Amino acid sequence: MAESLTRDETCVFCRIVAGEIPSAFIFEDERVIAFRDINPEAPAHALIIPRTHIRDIAAAEAHDGDLLLALVQAANAVARHEGVAESGYRLVWNVGPDAGQAVFHLHLHLLGGRPLQWPPG
Ligand code: 5GP
Ligand code: ZN
Repeated sequence: MAESLTRDETCVFCRIVAGEIPSAFIFEDERVIAFRDINPEAPAHALIIPRTHIRDIAAAEAHDGDLLLALVQAANAVARHEGVAESGYRLVWNVGPDAGQAVFHLHLHLLGGRPLQWPPG
């Protein structure tokens, strides 16, 4: 495996990665998993996350470049899986209080399946 896997014992998404919170993965490979959001904001709402614990996109470093590309490519695969590749979708990184970030394990939101407002609320 390219990078060593780190884990935060207090992190809900690390527990999902470890299978300790049962979640149906809609994508998985060596470095990335994706699953549907427990509180969907759109008909298609998935979270694409690295298996390794990184706090958020603000904490991403140069050596995470390949992993970030893998997340985006996984999101595009999830869009096809969820049937929104043609209708369109939005990929979102939330960072900090004004963005409403609630989980501090890097995750890319995929939203689609309805017209999305711009700018977001
Ligand atoms: P944030 O606001 O941090 O960008 O988004 C965190 C997202 O994770 C929220 O949309 C929330 O609904 C979702 N979430 C939090 N805990 C769980 C969980 O245990 N399972 C799933 N599937 N989604 C979760
Ligand atoms: Zn974590």
